[in-house]
Amino acid sequence: MLEGYEIVIGLEVHAQLSTNSKIFCGCSTEFGAEPNTHTCPVCLGLPGVLPVLNKKVVECAIKVGLALNCEIALFSKFDRKNYFYPDLPKAYQISQYDLPICKNGYIDVEDNNGEIFRVRINRIHIEEDAGKLVHGVSITESNVALVDLNRAGVPLIEIVTEPDIESPDKARAYLITLKSILKYLSVSDCNMEEGSLRADANVSIMPKGSKVLGTKTELKNMNSFRAIERALKYEIERQTEVIQNGGKVIQETRTWDEKTGKTVSMRSKEDAHDYRYFPEPDLAPIELAEDWVDEIRKTIGELPREKKHRFIDEYGLPKYDANILTMDKALANFFEEAVKEYHDSKVVSNWVIGDFLRLVKEEDMDYKDLKMTGLLLSEMLKMIENGKISGKIAKTVFEEMFKTGKDPKVIVEEKSLIQISDESALEGIIEKVLDINPQAIEDYKAGKERAIKYLMGQVMKESRGKANPGMVSEMLMEKLSL
Ligand code: ADP
Ligand code: ZN
Ligand code: MG
Repeated sequence: MLEGYEIVIGLEVHAQLSTNSKIFCGCSTEFGAEPNTHTCPVCLGLPGVLPVLNKKVVECAIKVGLALNCEIALFSKFDRKNYFYPDLPKAYQISQYDLPICKNGYIDVEDNNGEIFRVRINRIHIEEDAGKLVHGVSITESNVALVDLNRAGVPLIEIVTEPDIESPDKARAYLITLKSILKYLSVSDCNMEEGSLRADANVSIMPKGSKVLGTKTELKNMNSFRAIERALKYEIERQTEVIQNGGKVIQETRTWDEKTGKTVSMRSKEDAHDYRYFPEPDLAPIELAEDWVDEIRKTIGELPREKKHRFIDEYGLPKYDANILTMDKALANFFEEAVKEYHDSKVVSNWVIGDFLRLVKEEDMDYKDLKMTGLLLSEMLKMIENGKISGKIAKTVFEEMFKTGKDPKVIVEEKSLIQISDESALEGIIEKVLDINPQAIEDYKAGKERAIKYLMGQVMKESRGKANPGMVSEMLMEKLSL
């Protein structure tokens, strides 16, 4: 970064709303169907049809607006954004231009160092998605492009920030926070691979403290938050070099190439008037009743930041734990379900953050497909506490619970994992281990403390992890001191 310069970033996020049907027709929004099967005259853009607004879309947009501290416009309208491209059969996209449904909001975001910064939201508007072009082999090798219009007319909201973000890692922190909020609200599944969350990044640099923003470039085609951070870093370097060499940054749209790790010029950026926006005559303006907005406000519930603070206060959790546990609502619910039935919240948190999240990742699991409940975790923890199973065996039980959703008691029974706490049974095992390890006994007597750990390990192994470790330790000590 150039000495005496600062970075300015603004983000535009498109989130697909989780409605069952499209924004202006009854077609399904389901992902992955046979191409062009979720289409009708409306979303195919055939002449002579009229769009009808899906009320759920408006409700979702208001919900997001309220969660992002926006003003909700009681009067907003739709506009046609004109452009010619084969993914758009009408040759215009229905969007909102000068009167969006939400404006002037903000979110407070915590960066990696725990510092809170505020990002102002300029606007949130509603629009329809376009279709998807499919190139047989690749865009350069295919001689045809096919279009799949299943996605045409799928509802989106676009969330536009003010140019408030000071660094690529803060941009990423903002996106993580925004995604978490959208998922809490259940308005979008935010699946970046399926395109239900897409972000364009605008970036410029300017002399520190300048009142005039530098010329920005707009970056597209990043499909992970990491990629966005990397693209921004690259672009800041590039702009810096341009300025250092006495050149001028030109306003343009650049595409991120994941393979080369570079941004490449795509087109010089058109201004809004190039789109020749004009009011959509086929749709009435959206006029909201304040009562309805209040109703929606009541459905918002606890958001990630509030939940995090409550977890710290109510359960005495470290901030680190609370952060992870509240990132996802389903995860937080899982934790709370367990902690309701088990007294040590830190122990619960350790299992959730450790083994639970590891398995979720390994199995690439969606929380909604979870077989295991928090209640089962609490039962397992009680079994450890009562000496029924050892901490080590619990790992096996936990994996089995995760995969099958079975009760831990049943698992322990089926796999005969119950802990051996019977003194005479332990006696037999310990004797056997001591018999075949005379060297370790010598070592111990010669003052090598480590030898006892080794013997402990051998006993646990001999019992296949089922020996009660507390009892074994005590009994071993006693025998060795004879
Ligand atoms: P455009 O007309 O190119 O769409 P907008 O003014 O609508 O530009 O802003 C689009 C996004 O770019 C917003 O998120 C905004 O905060 C951001 N932005 C605007 N100007 C700059 C700038 N000079 N540097 C970085 N980001 C900017
Ligand atoms: Zn349709
Ligand atoms: Mg704009």
